[in-house]
Amino acid sequence: MHEMSVAQGIAQAVIKTAEREKAVKVAKINLEIGELTFLNPEQVIFWLAELLKDSVAEEAEIEHMEVRAKVRCEKCSYEGPLDVHEDPLFHRSLPVFTCPWCKKGSLTILEGRDCIVSSIEILTESDIPSRK
Ligand SMILES: [Zn+2]
Repeated sequence: MHEMSVAQGIAQAVIKTAEREKAVKVAKINLEIGELTFLNPEQVIFWLAELLKDSVAEEAEIEHMEVRAKVRCEKCSYEGPLDVHEDPLFHRSLPVFTCPWCKKGSLTILEGRDCIVSSIEILTESDIPSRK
């Protein structure tokens, strides 16, 4: 399951950061999930919450932001989002991997391919919330 392995990586990163910062509690985890990861955000959050049980981040609030894809066309130098195709079968919108302008050029992905922790909020022993 793709979402679970992604959540494992995130959980490790969160716990590592919490340890480095001597956190007694992780209050909040902010995620950025790229459109081209094709991850289901609810699944990622579900697994992440499971994996963080019995850790300093057990009670952390998990929020996510979806990052739209951004591409560059090598032929016409278009730079921006992909067109979206509504899939009637699966009732979801899928990005179309073709240049929206010339429909021909090869595309380079600039954004939207990653699932990352953008920030976490922790509580340290002095109990002062700090932003990382
Ligand atoms: Zn193009």
